[in-house]
Amino acid sequence: MGDQGFLVQKPGFATTAIRAGHDPSYCTSEAVVTPIVTSTTFKQPAPGEYKRFKYGRSGNPTRNTLEQCLAALDGAKHALTFSSGLGATTTIASLLSQGDHIIASDDLYGGTDRLFRAVMTRLGIEVTFTDFTNMELVKSAFKKNTKLMWLETPTNPLLKVVDIAALSRLAKSHGDVIVVVDNTFLTSYLQRPLDFGADIIMYSLTKYMNGHSDVIMGAAVLNDDELNTRLRFLQNSLGIVPSPMDCYLVNRSLKTLALRMEQHKKSALTIAQWLEKHPKITEVLHPGLPTHPQHEIAKKQMTGHSGTFSFRHSGGLKESKIFLSSLQVFILAESLGGYESLAELPTLMTHASLSPERLELLGITDSLIRLSVGLEDIDDLIKDLDQALKLAFE
Ligand SMILES: *Cc1c(COP(=O)(O)O)cnc(C)c1O
Repeated sequence: MGDQGFLVQKPGFATTAIRAGHDPSYCTSEAVVTPIVTSTTFKQPAPGEYKRFKYGRSGNPTRNTLEQCLAALDGAKHALTFSSGLGATTTIASLLSQGDHIIASDDLYGGTDRLFRAVMTRLGIEVTFTDFTNMELVKSAFKKNTKLMWLETPTNPLLKVVDIAALSRLAKSHGDVIVVVDNTFLTSYLQRPLDFGADIIMYSLTKYMNGHSDVIMGAAVLNDDELNTRLRFLQNSLGIVPSPMDCYLVNRSLKTLALRMEQHKKSALTIAQWLEKHPKITEVLHPGLPTHPQHEIAKKQMTGHSGTFSFRHSGGLKESKIFLSSLQVFILAESLGGYESLAELPTLMTHASLSPERLELLGITDSLIRLSVGLEDIDDLIKDLDQALKLAFE
């Protein structure tokens, strides 16, 4: 806890979210709420000496508060924030040098896939994409120069769950391979990858962590001191840093993360169970359902699933279009993790940049719909889905 004299030894998740990192000495008035410090530079006591901060890119009190809170929520020693999730990814990938090799899962978030394929390979870094639910394939992907393993679980939009502990063990048996888990879909409230052997957790804070669809930001969370020093150096050298205003907003959002995630979890599971019984729905892809192929791994490493999942219906493109255009509570839009419910068609929206062959290979078809279940009343959400399905199939 940043707060001096805090007596609770092992605070719970919600207490940690509210108190961790807050340091009243950052302002003069003993304010209960962390101030937004906009100053880009800080007064030094003597040339070459400084107290805690000297220049806003290398450190800022509001950003510091947020970073300490983020570290505490994952039970970690260190957290660094960046101006976007992809900024965090770029910084982590910059730990590598020309000639190094990355192993990444084959259905990564589109922006990560694009960064690895179109930018990292041009800088002389090799990348192998493989199916992380198949351990034999992953084993055969390792090379002498493998330095980084990048995984996402659950994946998007197919909600495949991969075994973080097994993959981390495999990576460690191949020497000094850094294991990164993109934990954007679940947050530290539902999954803590460091506890399962991962080295770095990457977040797009833009999604659930901020949860109000009004800030783009990313983070890296870790325990290793040496890796932290290298990432701090890169954060300052590459300059991909967030603004104090945005840090204030994300820190404020973390205070309700536990409450929000509980509701996302509950509403999404209720809707998934309702959809499973609907005559026009052929498959519901939700890790919390016993029918999910990796339900057992999900139970081992997650304490529940968030609000984002997908389903398949018995129609085609026409029915998907009528369904999505008929929704009144769910908003037809990309992204996920906000308080508002969203629905989208991956083939024409979030995954439109994938080739038709790749979409088919992965099983992303025109009858696959992705939902981000928000915080509205559950009855209104179910009524909305019901009326839109009726219109699509009448
Ligand atoms: C959105 C997202 C990102 C990228 O984050 P930005 O904040 O948009 O840069 C990375 N991974 C996942 C899983 C995402 O959903």
